[in-house]
Amino acid sequence: MNVPVQKHQAVRTTCPYCGVGCGLIVEPDGHGGAAVAGDPAHPANFARICSKGAALGETIALDGRLLHPMLRQGNGKLTRLRWDDALDRVASGFNEIIGRHGPHAVAFYLSGQLLTEDYYVANKLMKGFIGSANVDTNSRLCMASSVAGHRRAFGADTVPGTYTDLDEADLIVLVGSNAAWCHPVLFQRMMLNKDLRGARLIVIDPRRTATAEEADLFLPIAPGTDSTLFCGLLVHMAQTHTLDYAFIDEHTSGFEDALARARTIAPGLTATARATGLPVADVARFFELYCATERVVTCFSQGVNQSAQGTDKVNAIINCHLACGRIGRPGMGPFSLTGQPNAMGGREVGGLANQLAAHMGFSAPDVDRVRRFWDAPHVATREGLKAVQMFEAIARGEIKALWVMATNPAVSLPRAEAVRNALRELELFVVSENVLSNDTVNAGAHLLLPAAAWGEKEGTVTNSERRISRQRAFQPPPNEVRPDWWIVTQVARRMGFAEAFPYTRSADVFREHAALSAFENGGTRDFDLGAVATISDADYDALEPAQWPLRAGDDGKEQRFFSAGKFFTPSRKAQFIAPEPPALREETAPGYPFRLNSGRIRDQWHTMTRTGRSPRLAMHLPEPFVEVHPTDARAAGLGDGDFARVATAQGSCIMKVMISEGQQPGSLFVPIHWSDETASCARVGDLVAAHTDPHSGQPEAKAMPAAISPVVFSMRGFARTRDLLAFPPGTWWTRTAMTDGIEYRLAARLGPLHWHDFAFNAFSDRARVVDELIGRTYSASAFVADELYGCLCVGPINEPLQFAALSPADAPDQSARAFAPGSKELIQPAEPIICACFQVDLAAVRAAIACGEAHSVAQIGCKLRAGTNCGSCITELKRLIKEHRRLI
Ligand code: SF4
Repeated sequence: MNVPVQKHQAVRTTCPYCGVGCGLIVEPDGHGGAAVAGDPAHPANFARICSKGAALGETIALDGRLLHPMLRQGNGKLTRLRWDDALDRVASGFNEIIGRHGPHAVAFYLSGQLLTEDYYVANKLMKGFIGSANVDTNSRLCMASSVAGHRRAFGADTVPGTYTDLDEADLIVLVGSNAAWCHPVLFQRMMLNKDLRGARLIVIDPRRTATAEEADLFLPIAPGTDSTLFCGLLVHMAQTHTLDYAFIDEHTSGFEDALARARTIAPGLTATARATGLPVADVARFFELYCATERVVTCFSQGVNQSAQGTDKVNAIINCHLACGRIGRPGMGPFSLTGQPNAMGGREVGGLANQLAAHMGFSAPDVDRVRRFWDAPHVATREGLKAVQMFEAIARGEIKALWVMATNPAVSLPRAEAVRNALRELELFVVSENVLSNDTVNAGAHLLLPAAAWGEKEGTVTNSERRISRQRAFQPPPNEVRPDWWIVTQVARRMGFAEAFPYTRSADVFREHAALSAFENGGTRDFDLGAVATISDADYDALEPAQWPLRAGDDGKEQRFFSAGKFFTPSRKAQFIAPEPPALREETAPGYPFRLNSGRIRDQWHTMTRTGRSPRLAMHLPEPFVEVHPTDARAAGLGDGDFARVATAQGSCIMKVMISEGQQPGSLFVPIHWSDETASCARVGDLVAAHTDPHSGQPEAKAMPAAISPVVFSMRGFARTRDLLAFPPGTWWTRTAMTDGIEYRLAARLGPLHWHDFAFNAFSDRARVVDELIGRTYSASAFVADELYGCLCVGPINEPLQFAALSPADAPDQSARAFAPGSKELIQPAEPIICACFQVDLAAVRAAIACGEAHSVAQIGCKLRAGTNCGSCITELKRLIKEHRRLI
């Protein structure tokens, strides 16, 4: 195992959140926290970080961590287990099921949060030695359509460009990407290009997002029609002779078929505008700008990928770049922005069920090559089950053993409730995790294996521009926590494959991964790390961020792919793809008249198991919400801040209503982050159907038929406590982190007497409860000795909440005053925090603008400091300034 660094020593590492892959400098404070700053020398971010990265130091405490191997007993309780026993149970359990039912009766479900070394070992065990390709990953939900699109067009999963293209482009087109919130540091680079070089930004998105606010041209496209728009662009390029015939002839094939198909889908400007729901003039402006600008980058993200036609959308975008030869040169090219920190690393090792290893697939030569390299006679010879299919096979009882690593499929997969039920049927259900409790663990995992978290583990990640960076440990793994690669290695040895799994440190794994990428490569495959295949341990520890390919003999300079063709198809020509005519898999249906879109918010990550620990990140958007256009809200009888049930044929959630002009009429938007751990009824996976793209297997999560209706509660309130609370059935609640505690926001139909009973049941076994009823508002405070342990206040929904009960001596200690609202003071709903770094709320920003002291982002920064650190809130500050100007 690797030796952790000393306390207090600053360490250069990489952010564990999004695919931008920012370099960080982390200095542990020795008390369970850390100071986190951007690494000025890292080429992904040059010192910039966003609100999530800046708050990382608040997320590394050990409360809630899984610290020991655990076994679930027959009564459902978890008990500690020795590592040896846990590993033996996993190995013998898998072997026994494979012996009875064959290798396809077992599966691994991995994660873009894993390090490349973890991913490599897991993939090698399943595909090389168990002999099944039933390894898939949550990246299937994120960028599988980009992978499939790249492979169809380029013959390999190759991202051609680099981040410097975003600095050097004259036109940046963002399709289905709220980069301002989801890739904030890259977005800041784009904004800098705009400011310094006058680059223009076109945003194509059904929703007016924070990103769209910054656009020179915003195209609020009808859901599901992106490929129509790019077919229209291809047709327009042909009509206006913008095509690069030399590039098309020399380096591509299939152009005529693709153009013919594009003509049937989008024969002209007017037809394109009509089909996409856009004004003709705006479509014309987009086409003109694109055709007139040599240096154009088209970035796409989950808005394109998470679609039942995601792969065709990706190829429609790539077709346009191929048609004008704008690929592989500075400032131009199609650019997939990956969601997760190591989605790319997972793709590199073959972590998807339809890849084998090192960007090789299941062709006979690839299978033979990998078999020889691994010396693995039973290597998998065909694709395995992709995520959605995998969990369907579990539900049918065909897969009997599953090992989930570093992900939370009971929240994030389509039909999340069905997934949870399927998990309960497994004969063997193993979870490697950081946390002791999440929806997946709580779905009945039999064995929990404590995995090292960010800051405790050593390895590499690859970002969206193919740059490999080190994640380094800055604190020792606590208790019995171990790195994932170590856990899988130990299981592999116990399964009988010791010789093939000799690793003693992550560098051993990295070297083998690099050597496989270079094995019999000779430039025929894009992914090649031959230059680092024999790297020493010391050089691995000191590895600087580097972009692949890293071929032996290369000079190590930044590289783009395809400027001179040389694609990775058999003909070495890129393939134009004729997309299918766009048709949403599901039409809106009677009873489900809306289209439901889903996505991320600025300050949360995935299912909040890490970001949810940060009080400051909690305050940007603390409650699960549904965005509704004002017209639709009026028609449904919904006001801002009301509660609404959002339903699809799969299930329903109850969210707070957020009325927004940025939402198209007929469309709804919900964020994906809440789970059963953090809210009573807001798990968006329950709303998503298992409709997948035919090429990538990626599920549609952007345009689901849905309905919305009001939910009426008579009471609302809050509770603050040091421990988790279980509320009465029917209570709507959501949970956020506070310093030294937890805050719940509540709504219910229960009157004050019920809340009296609840308070005494919840607190009185460990604390002395003082309570008071004023009118119909009930308040309670719970004290352990004189220290405030918890408080509760619930009152009529349309009245201001007045918290009353606080004694003895009105909470004498400082921490109690910070923890509870001030005695007798009026409690207003908390204002959303706009600037997470300096905790500047919406009211303060609005007040500064309204009183005339701040007319610009810079002036707001001078007055309030908002926007002066990570910059994630700058687009919101600009929006508030604009909003104020519109009102005066
Ligand atoms: S943009 Fe933010 S979340 Fe993404 S890698 Fe950088 S600091 Fe982390």
